[in-house]
Amino acid sequence: MVKIIEPKVEIITPIDGDYILKHLELCARNCYKSEDKITTDSAKNMIKKLLELGHEAMIEHFSITVKLTTDVGAYKDLTRHRMASFAIESTRFCNYSKGKYGNELTFMRPSNMEKGSDIYNIWYKTMEMIEKSYMEMAAIGAKADQLRMLLPHSTKADVIMTANIREWRHIFKLRCAPAAHPSVQEIMLMLLKEFRKKIPVLFDDIPYGKTDNKAA
Ligand SMILES: Cc1cc2nc3c(=O)[nH]c(=O)nc-3n(C[C@H](O)[C@H](O)[C@H](O)COP(=O)(O)OP(=O)(O)OC[C@H]3O[C@@H](n4cnc5c(N)ncnc54)[C@H](O)[C@@H]3O)c2cc1C
Repeated sequence: MVKIIEPKVEIITPIDGDYILKHLELCARNCYKSEDKITTDSAKNMIKKLLELGHEAMIEHFSITVKLTTDVGAYKDLTRHRMASFAIESTRFCNYSKGKYGNELTFMRPSNMEKGSDIYNIWYKTMEMIEKSYMEMAAIGAKADQLRMLLPHSTKADVIMTANIREWRHIFKLRCAPAAHPSVQEIMLMLLKEFRKKIPVLFDDIPYGKTDNKAA
């Protein structure tokens, strides 16, 4: 039976929000030689000012790595971001007919279909057919390289992604917006929520979802 799972986000880089702000402040103050103005609580205002001025090159001085469990469609969207670095589960090398993968295909719950609806049921039946063909081809010796030709956008993909804070802000602005595909929107909104929780100021101005900018 096919496995259907939920999207997941994990921040790999250890995060100390106050440290990040102080680190960025130190970098920025080198421009103005105003290191003498650093106090225990000067970083927040400094970072707010940088964002207001659009002096965003300064916030490139800290990078964050995350692990996302998402679908192939969302990862195709994310890998268009050229300032980020990626390590992605390879359907060329992972043969899901093997015991290590539970002898099954794993698909992401589609974020734009209601479970139990006619549309969802057709989607589910198709995933089952794909899994059946995958296992049949594997049983007669097809390699992962060949098997992956069957895999759809809904296939689960583990994505490790690293970007600096300026690029993360850019990605969130594009991918949390209503125009983005629902799969990438869902995973990026989950990540934005975590970033906002852990890091002061830097992500507060990015719209969170369609209507509620304070939800995170
Ligand atoms: C709603 C939506 C729909 C989309 N639809 C399509 C589609 O139908 N077809 C399609 O092909 N793509 C599509 N895309 C992808 C889009 O075209 C971009 O490739 C993707 O969003 C990456 O954005 P970016 O280039 O701004 O950012 P990044 O690659 O993350 O780069 C960050 C920033 O660095 C700068 N930069 C990076 N590289 C260069 C460069 N070579 N020259 C100058 N400046 C650079 C730019 O300021 C850029 O904004 C879509 C994206 C969105 C959000």
